[in-house]
Amino acid sequence: MKKITILTLIITIIVSISLLVGCAKTPSANNTQKIKVAATIFPFYDFAKEIGGKYADVVLILPPGSSPHTFSPKISDIKKLAGAKAIFYNDAGLDEWAVKLAKGANVKTFVNVNSTIQNIISAHNGNPHVWLNPSLAKAECRVIANTLEELDPAHKSYYELNYQNYTKEIDTEAKALKEKLAKLQNKNFIAFHPAYTYFAEYFGLSEVAVIEKVPGQKPTPKEMLALEQLIKQHNIKVIFSEPQLHSDIVNAIAKDTGIKIATLDPLGGTDGRDSYLKLLQFDVDAIIKAMGK
Ligand SMILES: [Zn+2]
Repeated sequence: MKKITILTLIITIIVSISLLVGCAKTPSANNTQKIKVAATIFPFYDFAKEIGGKYADVVLILPPGSSPHTFSPKISDIKKLAGAKAIFYNDAGLDEWAVKLAKGANVKTFVNVNSTIQNIISAHNGNPHVWLNPSLAKAECRVIANTLEELDPAHKSYYELNYQNYTKEIDTEAKALKEKLAKLQNKNFIAFHPAYTYFAEYFGLSEVAVIEKVPGQKPTPKEMLALEQLIKQHNIKVIFSEPQLHSDIVNAIAKDTGIKIATLDPLGGTDGRDSYLKLLQFDVDAIIKAMGK
């Protein structure tokens, strides 16, 4: 009996020592552990992945192909957020559903990626589609980088370097795309909903009108007539639909006026548009193809 007790004691000591050794190793193990963060829409997801690199586990809440304007999350979406330290969202009437979801998942840090450019959004009557202006997208990247650096200071210099490199890449690509668009003769276009206001400002295009001022609210017959008059007046050759929002109105206008229908994507996340920069390239190419001579 006594022998068994001594043996048990020895085993206990061995186990305790190995546990202690294991504990001593924990800090370095933590050092390589990924930080989990969530993003509401694909562009923010891509920014967080670019900046967070190998130390961030980024989850995207809005499934690619869905519109944040019409999305209603399911209870199961809370699971995606389990363990997330922060959520990156846009606010300005675009993705409030995510805040409720994140609160339900006990996420502690809510990051409005536009917190430093609220004045610009106010000057555009609260239009939330800021990310499609590459210069403003960089301001959003700055906020995302700051958040990762605060939440995970052990890798601050890593995140900072990624931020610097990525925003340089945005600059280079945006400059090249701007030069491509500068060659367009007719810069007038009509978008489906006001997603391209900031994009048009940056790239020197002219958003003459939109079909649905509020997504889901079809234009009245009077507004339809006004749109068709604008198309003639501004020599508009194409009307743009979007992959996430569908409406028969686009077909009706195209039929009435005899102009083409092309696609512009404000969100991306699907094949061929699986990065923010590819999304910009897709939209610029679509515009040149549809509006060029
Ligand atoms: Zn929108």
